[in-house]
Amino acid sequence: MSASARQPESVAASSGLPTISFEFFPPKTEEMERNLWDTITRLAPLAPSFVSVTYGAGGSTRERTHATIARILKETDLVPAAHLTCVNAPRAAIDDVVARYHEVGVRHIVALRGDPTTGIGTPYAAHPDGYQTSAELVASIKTRYPDIDVTVSAYPEKHPESRDFDADLDTLQAKVDAGASRAITQVFFDNDLYFRYLDRVRARGIDIPILPGIMPMHNFRQAKGFVTRAGTTVPAWLEEKFDGLDDDAETRKLVAAAVAAGQVQKLAKHGVENFHFYTMNRADLVFAICHLLGIRPATQKAA
Ligand code: FAD
Repeated sequence: MSASARQPESVAASSGLPTISFEFFPPKTEEMERNLWDTITRLAPLAPSFVSVTYGAGGSTRERTHATIARILKETDLVPAAHLTCVNAPRAAIDDVVARYHEVGVRHIVALRGDPTTGIGTPYAAHPDGYQTSAELVASIKTRYPDIDVTVSAYPEKHPESRDFDADLDTLQAKVDAGASRAITQVFFDNDLYFRYLDRVRARGIDIPILPGIMPMHNFRQAKGFVTRAGTTVPAWLEEKFDGLDDDAETRKLVAAAVAAGQVQKLAKHGVENFHFYTMNRADLVFAICHLLGIRPATQKAA
């Protein structure tokens, strides 16, 4: 398939099986690059609808995100989705990033506001010449490139900066009105939070797919720290499951797989058809969880 023809497929499952997508982060070293490509090679045959590559805080990975996306386009049949934030950059610089992506054949962008450069929890200040909100970024991309599919974020526990759920849903609504065609949720561990959020979203008349973001917790202590800072509740029952396993990576891995597999199977049982996995650039757990969802390798292969 030529890069320019590569459009994200519909998220509707045609086979009756759930559709899946994967998030990767751009590697920093050659070893991390080799590891990422082993992961992509292992997961590509599961035929994800798209694979996304994150954009470092403050635009710190701009070139590495681009290089990873370009390599995915060149060496695989996968549909890459490039994350992009408004942080710390004038509109012209962001427009340039989008133009470069469009030129090489990227047709899917995950458009975000991003975190304050001064750190999560501190007040966000938009760049004076930059996009002031994520909805402005979405509108700009869709106006200039209607053929780019735009995905946005969603927050089952509301974003920590949102005054309340109404304010949070106003932002989601603005992003949808600007042309976003799906949202991926922040990681959550309690499925009820997702279903309650979905009820609120649908009650607003927002009908885009809201893909649950699933994170297998390879390293519970470390992951707990960063998901908590991002506003995700880590329930006591989850903490208990990893209790005493700090020095036992092997058992932690089995527990992490069991927890995430239980979560996705329950979501699937309640009719969820699309899953987005935060892979942390690791294939093993995600591959096993997809297997439990009934997904088997297809003929599609990473090069
Ligand atoms: P928005 O959707 O624009 O806003 C989120 C919420 O914050 C809104 O509901 C709104 O009510 C509230 N809000 C926004 N601005 C204000 C304000 N000024 N005052 C009060 N409330 C406000 N970060 C990265 O740096 N790189 C990535 O690649 C990346 N990928 C992500 C992918 C997903 C699926 C998700 C869920 C998050 C990702 N993030 C990433 C994190 C994200 O940048 C942060 O959560 C950031 O704080 C908000 O960006 P957003 O686009 O979600 O914000």
